[in-house]
Amino acid sequence: MAKTFREASATNVSDSIKSVLHEERVFNPSDEFSEEARISSLRRYKTLRRLAEKDPEKFWGNIAADLHWFTPWKKLLSWRAPHAKWFTGGKTNLSYNCLDRHLNSWKKTKAAIIWEGEPGDVRTLTYQQLHSEVCKFANGLESLGVKKGDTVGIYMGMVPEAAIAMLACTRIGAVHNVVFGGFSAEALRERMNDSNAKVLITQDGSYRRGGIVELKKAADEAAKKIPTLEHMIVLKRTDNEVMMKRKRDHWWNDLMLNASANHGAARLNSEHPLYILYTSGSTGKPKGIFHTTAGNMLWAYYTTRMVFDIQDDDVYWCSADIGWVTGHSYVVYGPLLNGATTLMYEGAPNWPEPDRFWEVIERHKVSIFYTAPTAIRAFMRWGDEHPQKHDLSSLRLLGTVGEPINPKAWMWYHRLIGGKNCPIVDTWWQTETGGIMISPLPGVTPTKPGSATLPLPGIQADVVRKDGTSCNPDEGGYLVIKHPWPSMLRTLFGDDKRYKETYWSNYKGWYFTGDGARKDKDGYFWVMGRVDDVVNVSGHRLGTAEIESSLVSHRAVVESAVVARPDEIKGNALVAFVTLGSKMKPSAALKETLRSHVGREIGSIAKPDEIRFAEALPKTRSGKIMRRLLREIASTGQVSGDITTLEDFSVLEELREE
Ligand code: ATP
Ligand code: MG
Repeated sequence: MAKTFREASATNVSDSIKSVLHEERVFNPSDEFSEEARISSLRRYKTLRRLAEKDPEKFWGNIAADLHWFTPWKKLLSWRAPHAKWFTGGKTNLSYNCLDRHLNSWKKTKAAIIWEGEPGDVRTLTYQQLHSEVCKFANGLESLGVKKGDTVGIYMGMVPEAAIAMLACTRIGAVHNVVFGGFSAEALRERMNDSNAKVLITQDGSYRRGGIVELKKAADEAAKKIPTLEHMIVLKRTDNEVMMKRKRDHWWNDLMLNASANHGAARLNSEHPLYILYTSGSTGKPKGIFHTTAGNMLWAYYTTRMVFDIQDDDVYWCSADIGWVTGHSYVVYGPLLNGATTLMYEGAPNWPEPDRFWEVIERHKVSIFYTAPTAIRAFMRWGDEHPQKHDLSSLRLLGTVGEPINPKAWMWYHRLIGGKNCPIVDTWWQTETGGIMISPLPGVTPTKPGSATLPLPGIQADVVRKDGTSCNPDEGGYLVIKHPWPSMLRTLFGDDKRYKETYWSNYKGWYFTGDGARKDKDGYFWVMGRVDDVVNVSGHRLGTAEIESSLVSHRAVVESAVVARPDEIKGNALVAFVTLGSKMKPSAALKETLRSHVGREIGSIAKPDEIRFAEALPKTRSGKIMRRLLREIASTGQVSGDITTLEDFSVLEELREE
């Protein structure tokens, strides 16, 4: 079954990676921010780091003590590489910790979710209301025979019911597998089959850029070939006509109608399966990442608290879709575990106008905003006038995740969105890590544009050579995590062999991230791109992020992707795909200017041999540049690799025709 997911093999590390770009700007958090922050001194950060290393029982125990356990855990960590178990002997429940735990305090009436639909409708759910909805839906799921350990697919847009569905699953111990609503029927089918889904939750449709994405129609198409599927639950949102199959399909509202608003939370073992989620597919076939309960809960709770410094009066908005890990840990679980107010927005950032996000921030007085570099680059392209139209003074903290952020995009975010007085937390992590691993603490860490700065307490990250020795300052190498952490993936669902090969075959006992990085003299981490994407020119191995950032630093450029193609004379030639700012005109002269610009900025070895202007770059549906496709286009003009996770097929067509 679903053999297509089983093709890719491990990335092998080879020689070191040369670092060429240097960014010297440093920004300190303001005294004002630091004074109010949860962690306000570097000394405190260092103490926590030391504690985590010297007395892990105490460090993790302190965090775990904030949460509710039906039965206390006995053993902190059982580690037989590459398999870890955390908090064994304990019984807990994620949904209980997100909801019930707040109901005996004033938070009962606090907004848990503020939601804005694309057409402009707004809904607010208090903790009490969210609890009732989740209990009702948990009862609804059980009425269809869903039991502890069953897999439930969620294929929805950004509506509160998507969060309700996730929380209801975790309440009864069902395992959710959320599939991004922008994926095709085929991608949905593969993911449902790979995870043996018994029930699929979807909607008639979802609003996107003024149109309707017909989710139920795609779900019907997928369901033709999902043998394990017994039921579908359909939320009415867009009122488009849908087919309802008798006995199999049920309207969300019908299930809720007579369901009781009480449902106890299942007492689940710490290592009870929590969710399966497929990676973005930037580097190859998606992997079915498998996470378990207690460790994931603990890390979502702690990182949201530390990295976003989340406080009781914050309105926190993470713009990620619920279909990505960021949506799991930082739209739903992290903020709710902290009793915070999380904002969800249904639609596109440029609907009806390119200022929609800034309008949302102004309307709801958002104070913490977390988004992706790809979005920031799009905002830059659309023009400064859009954010400038709005009062963004409610913001106090900004974050990014997903790709290395180009220093120019960082500076734009800092100036135009943050009004120069919001710290920016550039958070490095992966679907596999479950939560943020390397990031500034906003009240403490001086930030440098383009660096994710330092590992969080409890995380032992390093940059190493092929032989496992640590790299010197500014020497490029491989990003590894040297000790297990609670929210680390437990395996790849149904494929432990690929799990071992992908993450554990390069370094014994260390987790290999697949990313290249360097540490500077202050110990700051700079991610240089995927090891798979490293370009080899004239005997030098270069990370893509640095050359791309150098191109982006030119005023004409907003986005770029660099790949290598075979060349008869040089062995390899560097090809840069470049997207220009909306007011810029492509020309042969500009190509020359850009080549010299890179030569001046980082030296002649990184000077692209060829520049290709592109209206848009091929990206995953989560917005990450797919360099592997560009590599194929640059060398053969064709694409043969997996494109199921590609966002926009027309982009490839245009690039091929160039
Ligand atoms: P696949 O594993 O299928 O190729 P993917 O790696 O894109 O997909 P994700 O788990 O969504 O799937 O992305 C994690 C990766 O994103 C990291 O390994 C890293 O390359 C990149 N990344 C995330 N955050 C940052 C950041 N702050 N700075 C630099 N890179 C980042
Ligand atoms: Mg990955």
